[in-house]
This record gives sequence, C-alpha cells and structure tokens, in this order.
Amino acid sequence: MEQIPPLAPPPAFPPTAGTPPMPAPGLSPWGPPALHRLEIPLLVLAILVTALTYLVAISLLATGRLSTWVGILLLAPLLVYLARGRMYAAQRVNGVKMSPTQFPDGYRLLVEAAARFGMAEVPDGYVVLGNGQINAFASGHGFRRYVVVYSDLFEVGGLARDPDALAFIVGHEVGHIAAGHTSYWRQLGMFGANYIPVIGSSLSRAQEYTADNHGLCTRPAGAAGAIGVLAAGKYLMGLVSFDAMADRAVTERGFFPWLVNVLASHPVLTWRAAALRDRSRHGRIFFRP
Ligand SMILES: [Zn+2]
Repeated sequence: MEQIPPLAPPPAFPPTAGTPPMPAPGLSPWGPPALHRLEIPLLVLAILVTALTYLVAISLLATGRLSTWVGILLLAPLLVYLARGRMYAAQRVNGVKMSPTQFPDGYRLLVEAAARFGMAEVPDGYVVLGNGQINAFASGHGFRRYVVVYSDLFEVGGLARDPDALAFIVGHEVGHIAAGHTSYWRQLGMFGANYIPVIGSSLSRAQEYTADNHGLCTRPAGAAGAIGVLAAGKYLMGLVSFDAMADRAVTERGFFPWLVNVLASHPVLTWRAAALRDRSRHGRIFFRP
C-alpha cells in the first residue's frame, strides 16, 4: 500500500530558515529579566529634558514672568507627592485587598512574581471595579508599592478566564515595581519630559517592554492570552491569533501606524506581540520590526 506523505507544515511568517533564533540575554523566560536596551538612555534623556525645563522655569521666575506652567513645574515635587498619596489611598479605601482569603489566586500570583524577581517585600495588590475595562497598573507611595488589577481580568468567583494571561499581567505589573519604574524620584525626574511629545512616551514604551520581559519570566504561556485580552477583551480573547497579531507588526506599514506608536505610552499591540514572539532582540521603540 502506498504511503501518504505527511502534510507539510504551513510556512512560517516572517519566513525563518531552520530553528527559531536563540533568545538574547535577559529575554528568555529563564534567568533574570532584562531592562529594555533603550530604557536607561531614554531615562537619562528624560531627566536632562526635565532639568532643562526646570532651568527655564527658574529663569522665567527670576525675571518675574510667572505663568501657570512655571508654577506647576516648580510645584512638581509637591504635586507628584500628593498625587501618589491620593492614588494609593483610593485603592486602600475602595479596592478589594488581595489576601489568602480575598482573590487568593491573584494574591498567590503576586507572591510568586515577587519571589521570581528576588524582591524583599511582596507588593500590596488590589482589585478594583473595571466596568468592562481591561487594565492593571503599578505604583507606590513612600516605601509602599502596590499593584491594581481591574475586576474584569477576574471571572465570577475570583477566578481568571485565562489564568496564564492573568499571571503574565500580574508579573508585568510587579515587574514595573522590580525595575524601579514606580519610584517617586523616577516619576519626578520624568515630570517635565512627559509634556514634551515623543520623549516621555518613548521612555514609557521602553518601560513597557521591560515589564513584558518580567511578565514572560513569570508565565511564558500567558503572553499570547495577555495580547488576546488586551486586543479583544475577556470574552473574545480566545478568538485572537497571537501569531496573526505579531505578523501584522511587519505588514502594517506607513507614516500613520508609525505615528500612533511613537506617541503612545505603550508599544502598539502588533509590535508588542512581535517582541514577545521574537526573543532574539529587544522590542522596537521607534521603527517597526
Ligand atoms: Zn505596563
């Protein structure tokens, strides 16, 4: 009887010859996760720009030209302190604090991520009402650090629809803390740069890639689900092809896709998916893969 040859696998896109490229140091799911290679250069640039805006504000003040933005800039140390204190308090008084009895799955993920990154303290974790929005963030006040997860990332009963995606997202947020993104001094150093187009947003995108490197280390299997839930929400995330999203990082060309990315605080999802798939290089900040 004639043997039927096995079906050839579909061609890879973009075409890769042979085995996938080896992960770069810090980009594999094992070992310590890397900061994005442009994070520190962009942080130095942001601090220099902030310092320059301060010098301009002080010189304007010295010449008696006090305007609203000069006042805001000079009061930044106080404004950042007050905003962080208020934000932390809002979680403390309105959020559901994760614990061994309240959202225990989320609490366990926090503990695991903190242990994975060798952190001395487990950050606090809060679940807040999402009202359909998919979001999570990390911040701090004083010496406290915390993670906030919108309730839509959990299903009824405190269980995630995709536990791996939730583990990736919690790892991403704890990664922001582990990488020092939530410190008062860093936020103050970026204060002026955030008002300059491209400078602040580019540093933010580098930080997001850094946090994704941390998320991948906590739960590599959650990367695809995280992109799916960010792209299509908690009900339809299963319909999103991670590879199809990553492929379009290459095919969606032109000035306006570039513009959307360069002004955004987070890398566009297609580029983010491509960076999570190709671990041989750091994610793209300015130009598409
Ligand atoms: Zn983030």
